[in-house]
Amino acid sequence: LRYSNNNKVEEYVIHLSLTNADSFNLLKEEGRKALYLWICCVFAISWVILLERLETFGKASGRYKKKIYELVKKRSEEDDTQSEYRIPDAYDEEGHVNQEKRFAVSLQRYNLDSAGDKMNPFAEQEAWEEHQMGKASLKYGSKNKNQSNDYEYVFEDKIDFIRDSVIDGENLDELHSELPDKSKEKSALEMLQEERKTLPIYPYRDELLQAVNEYQVLVIVGETGSGKTTQIPQYLHEAGYTKQGKIGCTQPRRVAAMSVAARVSQEMGVKLGHEAFINSSEKLWTLKCSEFHLQVGYSIRFEDCTSEKTILKYMTDGMLLREILSEPNLESYSVLMVDEAHERTLSTDILFGLLKDLIKFRSDLKLLISSATLDAEKFSDYFGSAPIFKIPGRRYPVEIHYTKAPEADYIDAAIVTVLQIHVTQSPGDILVFLTGQEEIETADEILKHRTRGLGSKIAELIICPIYANLPTELQAKIFEPTPEGARKVVLATNIAETSLTIDGIKYVIDPGFSKVKSYNPRTGMESLLVHPISKASAMQRAGRSGRTGPGKCFRLYTLHNYHKDMDDNTVPEIQRTNLANVVLILKSLGIDDLVNFDFIDPPPEEALLKALELLFALSALNKLGELTKVGRRMAEFPLDPMLSKMIVASDKDKCSDEIITIAAMLSVGNSIFYRPKDKQVHADNARMNFHLGNVGDHIALLRVYNSWRECNYSTQWCYENYIQVRSMKRARDIRDQLEGLLERVEIEVTSNLNDLDAIKKAITSGFFPHSAKLQKNGSYWTVKHPQRVHIHPSSGLAQVLPRWVVYHELVLTTKEYMRQVTELKPEWLVEIAPHYYQLKD
Ligand code: ADP
Ligand code: MG
Repeated sequence: LRYSNNNKVEEYVIHLSLTNADSFNLLKEEGRKALYLWICCVFAISWVILLERLETFGKASGRYKKKIYELVKKRSEEDDTQSEYRIPDAYDEEGHVNQEKRFAVSLQRYNLDSAGDKMNPFAEQEAWEEHQMGKASLKYGSKNKNQSNDYEYVFEDKIDFIRDSVIDGENLDELHSELPDKSKEKSALEMLQEERKTLPIYPYRDELLQAVNEYQVLVIVGETGSGKTTQIPQYLHEAGYTKQGKIGCTQPRRVAAMSVAARVSQEMGVKLGHEAFINSSEKLWTLKCSEFHLQVGYSIRFEDCTSEKTILKYMTDGMLLREILSEPNLESYSVLMVDEAHERTLSTDILFGLLKDLIKFRSDLKLLISSATLDAEKFSDYFGSAPIFKIPGRRYPVEIHYTKAPEADYIDAAIVTVLQIHVTQSPGDILVFLTGQEEIETADEILKHRTRGLGSKIAELIICPIYANLPTELQAKIFEPTPEGARKVVLATNIAETSLTIDGIKYVIDPGFSKVKSYNPRTGMESLLVHPISKASAMQRAGRSGRTGPGKCFRLYTLHNYHKDMDDNTVPEIQRTNLANVVLILKSLGIDDLVNFDFIDPPPEEALLKALELLFALSALNKLGELTKVGRRMAEFPLDPMLSKMIVASDKDKCSDEIITIAAMLSVGNSIFYRPKDKQVHADNARMNFHLGNVGDHIALLRVYNSWRECNYSTQWCYENYIQVRSMKRARDIRDQLEGLLERVEIEVTSNLNDLDAIKKAITSGFFPHSAKLQKNGSYWTVKHPQRVHIHPSSGLAQVLPRWVVYHELVLTTKEYMRQVTELKPEWLVEIAPHYYQLKD
């Protein structure tokens, strides 16, 4: 053993000799000493570290207490002054927003935690601080329990909002006296009838009936939820208008038509003594076409839930348009109400023109135009200065909040805001506006994922999606009252803007977008695009939060965006869509002079010409612009002209059986194949089975349907093949109806399954304007009006890239994609449409 000057062991040099016991003992003793020494050193160092850590913690917890104090103080000051509202954010010690923290947080939001750590060395420390702060706030409590700081503890993402303005309430005084008295025990029947009396329209019932009696045309304006859609037809029925004929009420959206009919049948069903069904909206839905709807019915494309006994009929505006084809004078109606007129859908606009003409001949027909917004003057002027009946609105004030900075991903921002509201705001349901089914499903999934496992940390969040293709039994869910202690969040498309009123909404989240059909008349290309909404729409959306109490609207865009990027009003559909369908209907009605048709707002001339050109190419019109026999047959089908032409043309190649199946499958939309996240490979394999031989997407759809039919329409089969059974059932419904229509136009149902070329030729007969040719770089050029397009990755031909293809539709996502693609032979184009395509020498 060697010792250093200060007596510490410096080195051991060990020579063992088992025979020398002394040196062995010495070694043992010195070794033990050395060991003790080492243990002492380690202890001392540990103590120093521990003390240092404790000191930091002490300082830190002092700082957190101060932070929380300032936070609470700041928030209570804000509550007092209401000058700026801010959902809890990453504040620094002075109460300023900590930009660095925001940075870390926003990275986390995009699932880049590890990258965030690398880029921001403070992230980990901050996370720890935040965690501690959450604990501290739980421990020390806060002055305001409702706006608890647990939030910091539960979720890490936040968005900064700035309160901008308040939309004032209207006519609040009358409100309190009219709330239903819930204290006494009442039957469901009585409750529903009392509820009817609380609606803003109720005090004006008699005045309204008097006005209808006096004038043939009446424009009715009233805030959404005032009772126009559900009450006016009932008032008219009660006043005896149904003795001379039906009351028809049009809706721009099919979900609205169905849902309102259900509600009204419930309100009337009670009266008729079907009390057993009152409390169960599910039962009501499953009853659908049974006796329950005898008096109140609905009619939407491919679904007619009416009977001989129907007296109140809700329908889409498109269906009334088609009804005029078979009943030009609409004799069976005594009153027609064109509801949601402000939406200015294409069908509503065309109905205006036709009904304006019709009332000249039918002096007994009453026409009501009802609208949620201020276009009333315009409608009144159009209908020869028809009187305007205003139902005074009743709305509580609504606070408008804008984001401080633009949000890059509005779905993500919407989700974060839902969670922020849920943990920081007082009770009240949330309504989120998204653009379509896909977005809603995504948001639904993420919300469920993020709240899962939080247990009692947050109150229950009930997520209710609503969009056009949602199965009816789930649609009713949005109207069910929210249980005590829970919060409902409705994820809706534009449908909740004015068509449906959901009671109890207190918070609206408006990302500022909707899906808009846009049409390029030059190329004839139509696409659905996500587009900023108009200021008028934004106001409507905000208004949805102030129906039952003061509300708040969180706009996921900045005030600057609102002023700069949003138009005042939405452009009417007639000015931005393909007109081929309505031109065919108008031609069938014998209206030849389209240029002089009394449009409330005329469509662009170019679009009219384009529609005529297409109908001519499809042989629906002759050179003089007159309807041909083919055109007359096509008009019988409630489908786009190209689809109808495909069906009519299938007669020639004797494959109508296959073609109506394909048309039905295409009409269902893109919801046939099911691709669960955890089984994508299985699902893709199952899908590719239908594509064997690279037959193209149309034939693949046909195979899916035929296989399902061979298995006796089995649900199990769908399950095994990753096919959505609901979509298949709808396809079957549609197919049945198309088969009925075939009979009407005297086309025999014939099958020619072995001749795939015959089927493809029939498809081409309808869709030849949608043909495209492969280019060297793997993209395609559309043939008629050259434009670069690509085969959609979901297509069975995406890897095959045939030289010539015909497609069903174009969608614009990251690129212009062709969806539902089939190979064609170029000589077919010349054979089928010689007037459209010519061979180059
Ligand atoms: P408006 O047409 O003026 O916008 P509505 O007649 O649609 O008003 O709505 C009146 C009331 O009826 C609202 O309180 C709404 O919540 C209720 N309501 C409408 N449809 C349904 C439904 N399907 N289920 C439950 N309540 C409904
Ligand atoms: Mg309505």
